[in-house]
Amino acid sequence: MRRTLFTDEHDEFRASFRRFVDQEIVPHHLDWERDGIVPRELFAKAGANGFLGTDVPEAYGGGGVEDFRFNLVIGEEVQRAGVGGAGLGITLHNDICLPYFLSLCTDEQKERWLPGICSGELITAIAMTEPGIGSDLASMSTSAFRDGDRYVVNGSKTFITNGINADLVITAVKTDPTQRHKGMSLVVLERGMEGFERGRNLEKVGLHSQDTAELFFTDVSVPVENLLGTEGQGFVHLVQNLPQERLSIAAAGVAAAEAALGWTLDYVKERTAFGQPVGSFQHSRFVLAELRTEIDIARVFVDRCVEALDAGELTAEEAAEAKWWCTELQKRTVDACVQLHGGYGYMLEYPIARAYTDARITTIYGGTTEIMKEIVGRSLGV
Ligand SMILES: Cc1cc2nc3c(=O)[nH]c(=O)nc-3n(C[C@H](O)[C@H](O)[C@H](O)COP(=O)(O)OP(=O)(O)OC[C@H]3O[C@@H](n4cnc5c(N)ncnc54)[C@H](O)[C@@H]3O)c2cc1C
Repeated sequence: MRRTLFTDEHDEFRASFRRFVDQEIVPHHLDWERDGIVPRELFAKAGANGFLGTDVPEAYGGGGVEDFRFNLVIGEEVQRAGVGGAGLGITLHNDICLPYFLSLCTDEQKERWLPGICSGELITAIAMTEPGIGSDLASMSTSAFRDGDRYVVNGSKTFITNGINADLVITAVKTDPTQRHKGMSLVVLERGMEGFERGRNLEKVGLHSQDTAELFFTDVSVPVENLLGTEGQGFVHLVQNLPQERLSIAAAGVAAAEAALGWTLDYVKERTAFGQPVGSFQHSRFVLAELRTEIDIARVFVDRCVEALDAGELTAEEAAEAKWWCTELQKRTVDACVQLHGGYGYMLEYPIARAYTDARITTIYGGTTEIMKEIVGRSLGV
């Protein structure tokens, strides 16, 4: 189905980013998958080519265009090339962390951080999850007690994307541990602060080139100038920014499903069994037809959500619907596509195998499918 979302400018941006992916990511991807991390230079190169902070004002080194369609193009091209592990750090930086800086920074903080975020010199992460809590954020225990003009931060976080590479970590803390949601605040922890240690780069099922780490804070002295937004409003700030995070994950899910279907169609036309291409068995055609249909339908919904986001109208419920349904679709799709590849689908030299392992987390991170359904269900008055 013809998409009506993009203009010529987005198409040119897509062609340019596709070249960047083909030249700067694809040739190195297997090495990075083995290393468990991408080099920091990837961010610097992405920044130098205008692929970071497209929505940051030009005065701070950004592209100066508030338009999530550019973010969407980046997310889609990463999936198309089958380099989701390496691309996640960039989409997290652009789609998920940057909006907090853009909407919450004081002028002084903007001067201090935005130019480096756009150039790729400052890599970002967001740390909410702790070893003891994930979905139930208000039960977090990392604390930040005010001591004069500083906060003293203690606690730990886990599963943090860009955790090893990050220079700026938006950290959810309790400034008032006697409260649940109302006791939460966001502070930015910076590389090199005394008492801020990185733990392991965690070994995962998929997304191997993405560094996902534990972070430990022992009496970290953080200047009050690093408070992001308003003390005690951390939960509100998270709720305001999570719809874009969830839409980014949903859109990546649809793009990943599209890529998986494309690789599989190529494969089932070539591979023969019982004297005919395996794709021509009626069962295969039905499976492929179902995937084609579901992906087309999902894409229309996601495109509409992107328009709503750009118009400032996307609701938390709509973003939750997109997130759970599109990532469950991604999971169903890669599973069916592995099956259609037969044994080769289990071999990591085939992109579908990597896509299969990369997909598993998407119904969990950014809020699980169950939590998304809770958000939608609550809005129905039940
Ligand atoms: C690769 C990866 C990257 C990640 N990146 C980040 C990151 O950058 N920053 C960050 O802060 N976190 C990150 N996370 C953490 C991720 O967001 C959490 O794992 C996720 O929110 C789930 O939390 P949990 O693991 O504690 O599961 P739990 O909350 O313990 O949930 C366990 C199960 O219980 C279910 N459950 C929980 N509550 C309810 C309920 N009320 N109703 C019904 N079912 C419920 C869940 O759906 C799930 O099935 C990442 C995780 C991974 C694996």
